[in-house]
Amino acid sequence: SREWHILARPKGWPKEEDFALREVEIPELADGQILVRNLFLSVDPAMRGRMNDVESYTPPFALNEPMHGGAVGRVVASRSDAFAVGDNVQHWLGWREYSVVEGRGAGAVKVDADLAPLSAYLGVLGMPGLTAWAGLLDIASFREGDAVFVSGAAGAVGSQVGQIARLKGASRVIGSAGSADKVALLVDEYGFDAAFNYKDGPVAEQLAKAAPEGIDVYFDNVGGEHLEAAIGALHTHGRVAMCGAIAQYNATEPTPAPRNLALSIGKRLRLQGFIVIDSFGRRDEFLTEVGGWLRTGELKYRETVVEGIENNLSALLGMLRGENTGKMVVALPE
Ligand code: NDP
Repeated sequence: SREWHILARPKGWPKEEDFALREVEIPELADGQILVRNLFLSVDPAMRGRMNDVESYTPPFALNEPMHGGAVGRVVASRSDAFAVGDNVQHWLGWREYSVVEGRGAGAVKVDADLAPLSAYLGVLGMPGLTAWAGLLDIASFREGDAVFVSGAAGAVGSQVGQIARLKGASRVIGSAGSADKVALLVDEYGFDAAFNYKDGPVAEQLAKAAPEGIDVYFDNVGGEHLEAAIGALHTHGRVAMCGAIAQYNATEPTPAPRNLALSIGKRLRLQGFIVIDSFGRRDEFLTEVGGWLRTGELKYRETVVEGIENNLSALLGMLRGENTGKMVVALPE
């Protein structure tokens, strides 16, 4: 079985030589464990953070050890009463062809291939989808009639935030993304009221045109200039779900924006950070609601699929550069 190891901690953009794809023996299963043949591996922005040697809500990747990440696969051997050979599961030991996973606790969950293709459990029905749903509804306290702005809007999380806001009765949904094609997708396919390419000009100016009456909620995937623009556009008692700050994940210097944070005082804004792990207990409720919208076709999603474990690292870097539309996944042969 092949697995990806991290050899050195990158500064700025990760380089290929900081990583290696290594051949390893598959260990014998201990009591309670399952062996999973992975079919889809996830690449997520948070993986860039775990390459740094800083304590966070998840520990950093250990050097010369396999990296971790979301994965979906099929059980090929089981010493657990909870899983049988042939079950499809989602687990957190990706970046490898075969994973030995604990069959009890939160190590793995079964996924339903009849509801959606298996890759969806890494995106719209997986961690990013739950991030969008819980972040908008619980953290930003979305209410019917809110005008919502989301950045990273053509990505895995952002595309769901905008659509869930629309389905729940937003007065206006605005998104930003990094290409003309992505902007068109937001309006034409996902039903956003307005969208703009943040590379076309200052975010504050483009947001003011897209949301002339201001916004009630900002779902922040990007940070920096986007957050500054949103603080300027938010109404009194506006709410921000602080989800991510991808504009600075590969930065070597702290970003200067937002320079207008003090506006949050007079506007009585609430800026709340969150980590989706805290919402895992709501997974069933999330799957029921979002799975329902998928079945009726009211909610749409895209995936960018890269083939082969040898391309796992380039898929991650490509995602950080914006080469994905919707969830970026790596597909492995059956
Ligand atoms: P996406 O599918 O959105 O992929 C990342 C996207 O970020 C790229 O496609 C690119 O799109 C955009 N991007 C890259 N650099 C920049 C930049 N400098 N400025 C603006 N946009 C940029 O990833 P996810 O949906 O998985 O994650 C989205 C965000 O949510 C990330 O910040 C991530 O860290 C965060 N997150 C947080 C979680 C939590 O628990 N708090 C859980 C999961 C995700 P474009 O072409 O538009 O530039």
